[in-house]
Amino acid sequence: MIRLSKSCLSEKEKEAVKRVLDTEFLGMGPEVKAFEEKLEIFFERPVVCVVNGTAALHLSLQACGIGLGDEVIVPSLTYLASFQAITACGAKPVACDIDNTNFCLNPDDIKELITTKTKAIMPVHYAGSPGNLDEIYKIAEIYNLRIIEDSAHAFGSLYKNKKVGSFGDISCFSFDGIKNITSGEGGCIVSSDEELIKKVKDARLLGVCGDSEKRYSKKRSWEFDVKYQGWRYHMSDIMAAIGIAQLDRFDNLSYKRQELAKEYQKKLSNSDKLKLLDHNYDYIVPHIFVVEILLDFDFKEILESFSQAGIAVGRHYQENHKLSFFQEDIRRDLPVTNSVANRILTLPLHPDLTINDVAYISKKLLDILDSI
Ligand SMILES: *Cc1c(COP(=O)(O)O)cnc(C)c1O
Repeated sequence: MIRLSKSCLSEKEKEAVKRVLDTEFLGMGPEVKAFEEKLEIFFERPVVCVVNGTAALHLSLQACGIGLGDEVIVPSLTYLASFQAITACGAKPVACDIDNTNFCLNPDDIKELITTKTKAIMPVHYAGSPGNLDEIYKIAEIYNLRIIEDSAHAFGSLYKNKKVGSFGDISCFSFDGIKNITSGEGGCIVSSDEELIKKVKDARLLGVCGDSEKRYSKKRSWEFDVKYQGWRYHMSDIMAAIGIAQLDRFDNLSYKRQELAKEYQKKLSNSDKLKLLDHNYDYIVPHIFVVEILLDFDFKEILESFSQAGIAVGRHYQENHKLSFFQEDIRRDLPVTNSVANRILTLPLHPDLTINDVAYISKKLLDILDSI
């Protein structure tokens, strides 16, 4: 079976885990510090590692002072985590429509949704593309809003020749098992806002003031103060050791993803039954490869046809604003989201896939579309 996505690991990650296990210290310690330092070189600004990408979003929102009754504008076509991180703060996710070329937030739509309660915008870099970020930052400046970029899909992607996460207000990454790099589970917050970095560093360790520095050297605080709500959201040394090994070979991992996505483009861009995202894979490191099918089809049937051919496919994502928990917050119709949500299909993409696999999957897709 060709998997939709998977963790791609080398001996380096396995040796790294063994090295940490041998120390018999599995909590947050020097490996986390080392991983953060390497990420700070990668992004050229401060980084705080946490237990997953959802926690990175939650802590960032909280550190921006976002709470009960506040509104955060977010695309409906995203992983559930973006929405749940907002409601975890007591705030309301306000579902926004997307641009139909890249499925990222549509700046014109954002403007229509801003109220006196709006405190932040959460752009989601769908499939690895940052979309029209400059336009979104302009809006944020006019209305004095924070921007928490959900960069979970976009580790390594470039926007106007700058790495996603190396600029802007706050950028949150996920290192879960199938993302562009993994630390098993894990995530990080990147920002130049020193006050915010200080807050999230404490808040990831139950709010214990200044505990991070002690943990880095395998110590902990016995006498301390707590100034705000905290969580057990820190990263462990085992995770950080995996992350370091992945970051060291990220050039290979990202190149492989880009090469496979370019091959999909070559094989599929001529079909009039399909639309591909408007991506340049010299700059974008794709987390997923999504096609929009321009025919009416039954998702379950397509899933079954692919399954018979030994291929796993998926759908990123269901519309969040239609889920029971978020329905009351629907502000207005989302025509682009509504029209694409039932037509998208995600094809396998991970660094262990081969060019031949991509050729086989593409041929299968075209055959299936011919039979509809
Ligand atoms: C993976 C992901 C997250 C959450 O990251 P976790 O590490 O799984 O908690 C958030 N947003 C998007 C768009 C994601 O794909």
